[in-house]
Amino acid sequence: MNCPKCESTNIGPFSHEGVEFDFCSDCKGIWCDHGELANYVETIDDHPERTDLEKEGTLTKLTCPKCTTKTLYEMPYQKSQNLLIDKCLTCSGLWLDFKELATIQKLAVNIDAKGKLERTIKRMKDKGFALK
Ligand SMILES: [Zn+2]
Ligand SMILES: [Zn+2]
Repeated sequence: MNCPKCESTNIGPFSHEGVEFDFCSDCKGIWCDHGELANYVETIDDHPERTDLEKEGTLTKLTCPKCTTKTLYEMPYQKSQNLLIDKCLTCSGLWLDFKELATIQKLAVNIDAKGKLERTIKRMKDKGFALK
């Protein structure tokens, strides 16, 4: 796998507390396969407002490191926020800068409160609690 940004081959799996993504040690970028970002920031989806935001995507010059023939699109992570992510619309993988991860984590707390509640309820039900 080559880094979509700097084309370095110094990109590889990095895992921490059960979360895994690919990290480029040259440009400090992160590639998240579908589901990995959601896992990390504990949202229900990697890109919670994707249906609207994907329509606003603009083509970049970056190639998807997984699909290799597809080009990534740039789009906001969340409506009315400046943070942009690069996304493959084929495999739903995401590319972002390492420092952007902290910003996403902050945003995720607000956007997905409902998602967290739903997951908590599901977990409680799995453990046999009856909730109405
Ligand atoms: Zn790189
Ligand atoms: Zn892809």
